[in-house]
Amino acid sequence: MNHTEKDKNFMREAIRLSRESVKNGGGLFGAVIVKNGKIIAGSANSVTQDNDPTAHAEVNTIRKACKKLDTFDLSGCTIYTSCEPCPMCLGAVYWARLDKMFYGNNKTDAKNIDFDDSFIYEEIELPIEKRSIPTIQICADEAILAFQDWKNSTKKIEY
Ligand SMILES: [Zn+2]
Repeated sequence: MNHTEKDKNFMREAIRLSRESVKNGGGLFGAVIVKNGKIIAGSANSVTQDNDPTAHAEVNTIRKACKKLDTFDLSGCTIYTSCEPCPMCLGAVYWARLDKMFYGNNKTDAKNIDFDDSFIYEEIELPIEKRSIPTIQICADEAILAFQDWKNSTKKIEY
């Protein structure tokens, strides 16, 4: 994919955040989100500081950017992440409708230091009954009521 010197500088900020975090005893990933040529949010991973397994650099940065722009839709923004995202963060990037993503380290680099998310990617491809976490559908006829409510709601904000 094409990139410019500006893109490299945004990535360097994501990398700086990741290295600063490691220096301070935190996680080893960093990300920034850019809109109209300006960084609007940046964060490192903070899983261990926050006791939050979802506090990956990309998710943290998406949350900050959305708060700052007061929106749940980051169309028009680009994310620069110091490492190719895990399945959760990749999903978050799509949910946030980011325009584009640049990454620094790749999945193999992460695997080489024991951050291997290929297991989760493999789980996603398995039929539900073959996944390692038992996953059982119950109360489907009751759960569907919320979907019907949504379909009929005049108050909904579509996303
Ligand atoms: Zn992640």
